Amino acid sequence: MNDYVANLDRALNQLPEIKNSGERFKVPEPRLLTEGKTTVLENFANIADILNRNPDHVFKFLLKELGTAGKKDGPRVIFQGKFGFDVVTSAFEQYVKEYVTCSECGRPDTHLLKSDRILTLRCDACGAHRPVKKRQVSSIIKEEALEEGKTYEVRIDAKGRKGDGIAKKDKYTIYVPNGNKGDIIVVKIKKITGNLAFADFIEKKS
Ligand SMILES: [Zn+2]
Repeated sequence: MNDYVANLDRALNQLPEIKNSGERFKVPEPRLLTEGKTTVLENFANIADILNRNPDHVFKFLLKELGTAGKKDGPRVIFQGKFGFDVVTSAFEQYVKEYVTCSECGRPDTHLLKSDRILTLRCDACGAHRPVKKRQVSSIIKEEALEEGKTYEVRIDAKGRKGDGIAKKDKYTIYVPNGNKGDIIVVKIKKITGNLAFADFIEKKS
């Protein structure tokens, strides 16, 4: 028995050390430029390259995530609508979470494999693999599209940095000039840009 424990110890000591790096993979920062009613992502090709993924795959994901249309233009991507740094960064982070980092060791050294129509993410660092989660399409299909000029009843979920109220409705994040967390208010949509909507405060319900 002691021999067994000793052997086990030795075997464990010989295992290559797996660094469970707490360091999370950092998505390169998007460089954005607003041109009229469009947003130019200047270093798109570079980011796709660093993520080591097919640019078309990344591009399609971004469009879906931002809820807008766009086109590739050399190394750049041009989105319809105005998108801020935070929004674009979080879209990339979502992509990385779904299609790049290993869920076991957290490393980005992975590749996608398709077999029997199932997309699998395989990790080159630790050998783990997992199916890539199917995106929930049901919410997209049932989503009600907001319309500019219409009124909606929403619940304020958070306060923005500038004191504005933030509400969620389907895929939209709605900004209202005022309103406190928990308020149910009626708003009138002024402007919609992708998944973002800006609304006027009409009345407070409760
Ligand atoms: Zn891994």
